[in-house]
Amino acid sequence: MARNVVVVGGVAGGMSFAARLARLDASCRITVLERGSDVSFANCGMPYYIGGVIRNRALLTVASKAMLQARFGLDIRTRHAVTEIRRADKQVRGVNLETGEPFSLPYDQLVLATGAEPVCLPIPGAGQPHVLTLNTLEDMDRIAHAAERAGAAVIIGGGFIGLELAENLRERGLQVCIVELTDQVMPPMDPEMTIPILQALERNDVQVLLGRKATEIGTAQVTLDDGTRLPAEVVCMCAGVRPRSELAAAAGLDLGPRGHILVDKQLRTSDPDIFAVGDVVQVWDRLTGDSCAVPLAGPANRQGRTAANIVAGRQDAFPGVCGSAIVKVFDQVAGQSGWSEKRLRAAGMDYRKMYAHPFQHPNYYPGAQQMCVKLLYRPDGGILGVQAIGGEGVDVVVNVIATAMQGGMTVFDLEQVELVYSPQWGAAKHAVNIAGFAAANHLRGDVCPVYPDDLLPEDVFLLDVRTPEEFSAGSIPGAVNIPVDSLSERLAEIPRDRPVVTYCAVGLRGYVAARKLALAGFQVSNLAGGFKLWNWTRRLKEAAAARPPQVSAPASSWALKAGSEAFPGRGD
Ligand code: FAD
Repeated sequence: MARNVVVVGGVAGGMSFAARLARLDASCRITVLERGSDVSFANCGMPYYIGGVIRNRALLTVASKAMLQARFGLDIRTRHAVTEIRRADKQVRGVNLETGEPFSLPYDQLVLATGAEPVCLPIPGAGQPHVLTLNTLEDMDRIAHAAERAGAAVIIGGGFIGLELAENLRERGLQVCIVELTDQVMPPMDPEMTIPILQALERNDVQVLLGRKATEIGTAQVTLDDGTRLPAEVVCMCAGVRPRSELAAAAGLDLGPRGHILVDKQLRTSDPDIFAVGDVVQVWDRLTGDSCAVPLAGPANRQGRTAANIVAGRQDAFPGVCGSAIVKVFDQVAGQSGWSEKRLRAAGMDYRKMYAHPFQHPNYYPGAQQMCVKLLYRPDGGILGVQAIGGEGVDVVVNVIATAMQGGMTVFDLEQVELVYSPQWGAAKHAVNIAGFAAANHLRGDVCPVYPDDLLPEDVFLLDVRTPEEFSAGSIPGAVNIPVDSLSERLAEIPRDRPVVTYCAVGLRGYVAARKLALAGFQVSNLAGGFKLWNWTRRLKEAAAARPPQVSAPASSWALKAGSEAFPGRGD
């Protein structure tokens, strides 16, 4: 006998579920109820339509309703809002938004894929029509339309969506200011890794105000907590998302502390006939099992697939999330997976870290771009997290290391991982290998790193091993310059009774110098990340000193933390 499977929400998680189930089980009658006008659209592409990178709006529909109906036999009902789940008689009720007619539909299995709602902060003036959020294609049209007439935009929130919108509104010629409550953009990352993003925003004349709060929105300006007034004919709220779990709550399903639907590894809710997937669910960290929520398209799609496997009677389990994410801001790409350092620190976990600055392909081939990779790992080498910032190749490095981490590999495995190489792609020592070398050198004791925010002993001998030209263009106060290639002849200039710290531009020549000195019997450390990372850290310190006490970016952007305003994610 045919089973009635009803899906509420027809975009990422819901439609992945429905299409997969249709492929697995012909006996299911699958109905997808979507309150919006569109199903299966690419939320992720919307900022780029606003910026004019994607010109054809129709391309944002990943799979049309007609195609999904024809190919998979799905019964898709758009403009159908579900308002109630009646668990006792296994029915959903709702309203057809076109006709105003109520409807009810029986289900054998129900899947909730209702997503997450952008948070609209309760700022006086936030209800005005020029204050917009970005969640649906209609929202996108409103922002694109407003951008045609506006001269200035304020974006409240410097997370992924805020940054993507900032870039795209700027590309359209608007004057753009990002107002961010915490002390960094991109809260899931470690602060020093976000400095290149700030620099890219500055180069492109996007103003960024960190540690500031919007207190009032007027018709053409936004007022901040320090009295600053910013011109704004359009205001975009990009302040995080909340799970849309009202239906589940009213039906008595179990929810987590921040309103997410609780599910097991088979994506079953507390009612065995009701499944939930996507931004609306609380999941668990893949490394530690801790509860968390990651409102991203990848997990939503994969959860939809897993739930379909289960409903079709197959064995499957969702393994959890690592928070793998990537964003482009002008010429900078920032990616990460796993735990950040601030999150590890806040959780009291034992970790080590190392920075490397590899190129995505060899320097001799045109277009080589340097990136900064930060690797976090356990004392035994187990990988805990990766962050990378740069240009081309960041995605490859983060993806490979994320895969290694999820496969339980160590930094020692990264040293040996075999990846493709020809001059256009990769390198004989691939960026992933280089990150592995740096971390493995650290754990084997080949190098003793110090970090820019470490307190150095007062009698430290700070040795800059760059060229005299680099040294004269800027150096760390108190440093003495002996280029790495002159070191062997000039060892006598280095005191043997003081700790020595070497540094170079990014850490590599400093490491070579440190090895040379260590072999010659000196007590030596190398400044990880070199002068570049030292400058990023200095910028953070200067900015912190210039600001009044304020909110710090959450230690764990993905983890469930009591007391946080909303769930950060691509909107935070
Ligand atoms: P959604 O895709 O939001 O779908 C939920 C649907 O349920 C909605 O269409 C809603 O109308 C419908 N619904 C809700 N309640 C009801 C009801 N009662 N009755 C009927 N229908 C209902 N993620 C990435 O990984 N990478 C990116 O680059 C990226 N960029 C993004 C950019 C933007 C601007 C946005 C908004 C999101 C972005 N995301 C990105 C996040 C990603 O889009 C979401 O994580 C993903 O869409 C979540 O899928 P979902 O199925 O849980 O919810």
